[in-house]
Amino acid sequence: MGLFSDVGRKFEETKQSLTDTQQPEYVCTSCEELVREDFEYCPHCGEDSVEAAA
Ligand SMILES: [Zn+2]
Repeated sequence: MGLFSDVGRKFEETKQSLTDTQQPEYVCTSCEELVREDFEYCPHCGEDSVEAAA
C-alpha cells in the first residue's frame, strides 16, 4: 500500500512538472493576462473573457 502511494505521488510530481514547463494556453482578452486553464472567469480581473491563446 505504501509503495503504491509512493508511485502515485511520483506520478503527480511528474505531471505537475510537465504542466509547469508548458506555456499558458489561455489569455484573458479583458486584462491580457495569461492563464493556465480555461477559466470561466479570469482569476486576475474577474471578467468572463478567458479564451484560448492563438
Ligand atoms: Zn482578466
